[in-house]
Amino acid sequence: MFRVALDTPLRRLFDYLPPDLPEGAVGLRPGMRVRVPFGRRRLVGLVMEVGDSSELPAQRLKPVLEVLDAAPALEAPALELIRWAAEYYHHPVGQVLAAALPKLMRLGAGVTATEERWTVTASGREAAAAGEPRRAPKQRELLDFLLGRDGAAPAQSLSGNLTSWRDAARALEMRGWLERREVVLAPVAEPVRVRAAGPTLLPEQRAAVERVAAASGGYAAFLLEGVTGSGKTEVYLRLTEEALARGRAVLVLVPEIGLTPQLVGRFRERFAVPLAVLHSGLTDSERLAAWRAAWSGQARIVLGTRSAVFAPLPDLGLVVVDEEHDASFKQHEGALRYSARDLAVVRARLAAVPVLLGSATPSLETLHNVAVGRYTRLRLLRRPGVSQPPLLKLIDLRVSAIDAGISTPAALAIERHLAADAQVLVFLNRRGYAPTLLCTACGWIAPCRECDARLTVHLAAQRLRCHHCGADAPLPARCPQCGFAVKPVGQGTERIEAALGTRFPGVPIVRLDRDVVRRRGDLDEVVRRMSSGEARILVGTQMVTKGHDFPNVTLVVVLNADQGLFSTDFRASERLAQTIVQVAGRAGRGERPGEVLIQTEFPQHPLLVSLLERGYDGFAEAALAERLQASWPPFSRLAALRASAKTPDAALGFLSEARAAAGAPPRGLKLLGPVPAAMAKRAGRYHAQLLIESHERPPLHQFLDGWLPRVEASRSAQRVRWALDVDPLELF
Ligand SMILES: [Zn+2]
Ligand SMILES: [Zn+2]
Repeated sequence: MFRVALDTPLRRLFDYLPPDLPEGAVGLRPGMRVRVPFGRRRLVGLVMEVGDSSELPAQRLKPVLEVLDAAPALEAPALELIRWAAEYYHHPVGQVLAAALPKLMRLGAGVTATEERWTVTASGREAAAAGEPRRAPKQRELLDFLLGRDGAAPAQSLSGNLTSWRDAARALEMRGWLERREVVLAPVAEPVRVRAAGPTLLPEQRAAVERVAAASGGYAAFLLEGVTGSGKTEVYLRLTEEALARGRAVLVLVPEIGLTPQLVGRFRERFAVPLAVLHSGLTDSERLAAWRAAWSGQARIVLGTRSAVFAPLPDLGLVVVDEEHDASFKQHEGALRYSARDLAVVRARLAAVPVLLGSATPSLETLHNVAVGRYTRLRLLRRPGVSQPPLLKLIDLRVSAIDAGISTPAALAIERHLAADAQVLVFLNRRGYAPTLLCTACGWIAPCRECDARLTVHLAAQRLRCHHCGADAPLPARCPQCGFAVKPVGQGTERIEAALGTRFPGVPIVRLDRDVVRRRGDLDEVVRRMSSGEARILVGTQMVTKGHDFPNVTLVVVLNADQGLFSTDFRASERLAQTIVQVAGRAGRGERPGEVLIQTEFPQHPLLVSLLERGYDGFAEAALAERLQASWPPFSRLAALRASAKTPDAALGFLSEARAAAGAPPRGLKLLGPVPAAMAKRAGRYHAQLLIESHERPPLHQFLDGWLPRVEASRSAQRVRWALDVDPLELF
């Protein structure tokens, strides 16, 4: 009896009999994929368990149709991780598996790489010797080509040397002169080589490396907290070297691969070993190839974003999560909403290896785990070389003259730093030219028809775009309501770039935001112009905080710190503090000290004050105290039931029915809502949520176990899109 996970919304495994094949079920074990009958369909599933008996009567059970793997596609700890995620996120195990496996493997592609080879048969050789085939020049050419290569060649080489050879090959195959075969390619185990020795470690770096290396015999979790530029990457590299030397593989998770080319580059430079890179930009066959390289043990290092946490790594020896505070580790869309950072810790525990979470601005959850003794904190306080931490100052926008978003003190500072031959970074977390298009006569504001949002002006492209749903329209010259002239109001990065160009004529300026990065070559060009010193001012969004090193930047100007100070989301202040510290960390990474100016209309705001006076540590301490008092995570546990529908009533109606299905919640558990989302209408759908708050984790999960099947069975569940989000990161 085999219990198989299938990609269906049903929260269970499915029982099957051993395959009705000559070889039977010899060697079929958990982790292997099988093809099975399911209703009228045939599905690819994965054996999760082997059991003795089924609850179903024997005559209703069907046999496995086909065994797809000769060895488990997922080894035991990876399989355990899937099971754990299904339980923790209350999601059908078959669907967790579907999120973990590459698409081509879900369709049946083998875990081992194969190659299509064409071989001349004995009768083919005889025929060729007799001068056949006489009247088919294409077939003749193909036969000669193969015989010139000892009678066999891979399809790839045929395609590279001959044109339209396939018809000829098929004709020859029909005559029994050629044979087509899929040959399994055995991975070539390459010796581990360190290409270049790293720099001498600072005492703090050495202590961190020694501490983690000493724990390599089992599970242990570490927070590697280091200010930007303190050399966290070097610690990752040394520990990777140490794990590779022990014959183990390393999993490195990063927030966004496209934005961290420097980290990937540093691993490639340091180690002459095959490295598999997994991210959302891969094609299906590239993803399959990377997965195979990891599975076969050929790739010794797997570097990737979120879903790489599920990658197969038979000899896993170390897990690294870089920038662990980054929100992109959380999958917040679709059906399975998981935190790759949290799963990475679970994966390390299941594989009994150390995990290292790195950040200059650790999440409050992680700091709490340190405080209660679950994680060990390792700190890198000094920056290598002589560089000094940057000096932060607030600019009070209520008393400073301001022109096109830039205050006079900020403009003077930019001038001063440019005169000293340094580079300047101007940060604004809003792309486009202006966030609003306004008619000054009638007050019309360009709205998005599909969202509760305004359209952003993109002047260079002459478009109006919605940053929430992607709606896109031509930029009108006049108000569609009254015909009067319209004007863009407020600042985006595109406008700041133009304003700085006017104020500092002749100074080369570059911009870095999602509009620029959309074209891959443009990102490289921006980075190149900043690194070479050719560009003097960089205007950018959040993106400038990710990975790129510009050592000659000595001034950072944060144009608007105020978004995030007054938000309904209790995590907004944490994100703001992290952004400010990360952006500030871009200043003075070389030998010159850095200066950071933060423009705000609320210079007395306690968050800004604690951040300036006591740094991120001081902020985190104050913020954790606040969370404790309000009983927010990490001092409580949350889950959100989210729904969206074509009408607000449908979304809220489903959640009300779900709330009613909960009855009286157990002690220590609260249901809050349902309420419409802060931006209720998005992309033409109305969003709402019901929040479940619990003091402890076990009662929450116990409650969800009993409640979700009732929610699923409710009549309105079919009429809305809904998902459960355990440990939601954003509340809206
Ligand atoms: Zn108007
Ligand atoms: Zn929209």
